[in-house]
Amino acid sequence: MPEVTGTVTVAGVDWGGTWIRAAAVADGRILRRERRAKPASLAEQYATVAELVRRVGGSAVGVGLAGVVQEGLVGTAANLGFTDGTDVAAALRPLLAVPVRLLNDAQAAALGLAARWPHGTTAVLTMGTGIGGAVIRDGALDPGLGGAGDFGHMVVDLGGPRCPCGGTGCLEALVSGRVLASAANALGLPDAAALVAAAGRGDERAAGVLDRSALALAAGVRSIVAAHDPHRIVLAGAPLAPDTWLGRAVRAHWDRIRPHWARTELHHAGDDEDAALLGAAAYALDRL
Ligand SMILES: [Zn+2]
Repeated sequence: MPEVTGTVTVAGVDWGGTWIRAAAVADGRILRRERRAKPASLAEQYATVAELVRRVGGSAVGVGLAGVVQEGLVGTAANLGFTDGTDVAAALRPLLAVPVRLLNDAQAAALGLAARWPHGTTAVLTMGTGIGGAVIRDGALDPGLGGAGDFGHMVVDLGGPRCPCGGTGCLEALVSGRVLASAANALGLPDAAALVAAAGRGDERAAGVLDRSALALAAGVRSIVAAHDPHRIVLAGAPLAPDTWLGRAVRAHWDRIRPHWARTELHHAGDDEDAALLGAAAYALDRL
């Protein structure tokens, strides 16, 4: 696709636990893309990010990675091998000729997904292996000090299970891809998708597990409304699709427990692996 003269092209990077992907983005569209398997050492990962950005091009780069990012410092990105407080931006700057902006990968994906709602406040709750998300105001990410929208760590049950974050009863400790997979295994099912399918076929044990999960998610939706009263909440990720048992159950519980004044709309969005690239690029463009 030819570049439009006068349009700013920026690079978006999705630095994941398996792949490092990069794309050149202009006008919200991907022009070019590259990817490499994530190498083991941190020095090699920095070099790979720099090489991919050089290959796709762009006058700035937004990098989404799996960790909380505060003032360019990355906390707890265990999948990538960072220790707490690693200054990733400072490590990347000498390798790149363009400005670097870092953000959390779930925030990047949420920002990409929210592009279809350019006005008002959009809160995105994404369910994958864990639960993440972001708050977007008029198309721009509002990260707070860095971690705003990390909805997996809203407390929805003070007496609930321990969470890897050190808390108790976090939403992510009660319902996430990881939790549903182990619940599925306990019922002799291979994975979370099989659990959702079993509930759809009328399996009462599977339905019971998912109903509790749906109630926890609806409680999370209620907390998001209390904190942000957004125009819309987008439930993202395949298990929360509107036609799945879980997606329907979250909506039903929300309709039952919503405050009477709440006007927030619930939307659903499926998996979109370009969203993180587009969102990371949009974040860099917003800060040029
Ligand atoms: Zn937690």
